[in-house]
Amino acid sequence: MTLAFAMTKDEWVEVCGEALEAGGIEHFHPLEICDVGRESLGTKLYQPWKLRVPPLHLIHNAILLCRVLLDLRSSRRVMPVRVNSWYRDSSYNHRIGGVPRSMHLTCGAADVVKAGFTPSEVADMLEAHPDSAQFGIGRYKTFTHIDIRGMIGRSAPARW
Ligand SMILES: [Zn+2]
Repeated sequence: MTLAFAMTKDEWVEVCGEALEAGGIEHFHPLEICDVGRESLGTKLYQPWKLRVPPLHLIHNAILLCRVLLDLRSSRRVMPVRVNSWYRDSSYNHRIGGVPRSMHLTCGAADVVKAGFTPSEVADMLEAHPDSAQFGIGRYKTFTHIDIRGMIGRSAPARW
């Protein structure tokens, strides 16, 4: 069970933005970690001015994943990496049909697309990464799942 709590978007952008800056992370924004894709839920439970954000210690996992995504961004040819889904709190994860122990609950997983490359090519780039033995890589038709399970002590079972 991953606890999540509510912040306004502005509060989250400030808190997470400071952590990303301290970690030297460029090109990724706090709202990509917590908010991407949620507008499409169409539920009255969804309050667009409020975010369910992770416990703040999980920001560390997000920063580790950012570093991998930055490597992906510059792999072969520098192109933007678009995030479809990153952190999910447990109720959101349940609502969209995610697996119960999804790596997305840890802040250490994202579903991504790299401009100019197919999802299969993106998965190949991730498999060629020097730390790939610690990754979970999921090949899908329209995106690639990447998680850093081995870096955060979640080696098994494989769960997207
Ligand atoms: Zn995923």
